[in-house]
Amino acid sequence: MVTKQHSAQLERFKKTLESEHQLLIADLAMALTSIETETSRNVLANLKALSCDELVELLADEECPEINRTLKRLRAVDASLCQTELGLYGFCADCEKAIELDMLQRDATQQRCYACDQIHRHVKKNNKRILL
Ligand SMILES: [Zn+2]
Repeated sequence: MVTKQHSAQLERFKKTLESEHQLLIADLAMALTSIETETSRNVLANLKALSCDELVELLADEECPEINRTLKRLRAVDASLCQTELGLYGFCADCEKAIELDMLQRDATQQRCYACDQIHRHVKKNNKRILL
């Protein structure tokens, strides 16, 4: 159900995501300037024209932790922005229920509701234990 209040909240999250997107692009530009490779110069020259997927693909071989971290976050932000366009934003990836508002306020790219997030974290932790 889309209420007036709901769409106002959605707009706010969209704005949050859009400004984080801009910040991440600025971070990426800084990191690219510092590594000075041929790829980084090319990407930097076309930064505004490249999509998130193209950036990830082009920079896949750059072994710069700063860039990898920024790209990972950029992907999450980009995916959430897509969801706002498709009307899928704010629903849990596992159980499809609405994600709690405070979870989204803490992280606007949250993909799971509280209950599913707990399960997910638990599974991840156990998998790590098995790997060790
Ligand atoms: Zn869920």
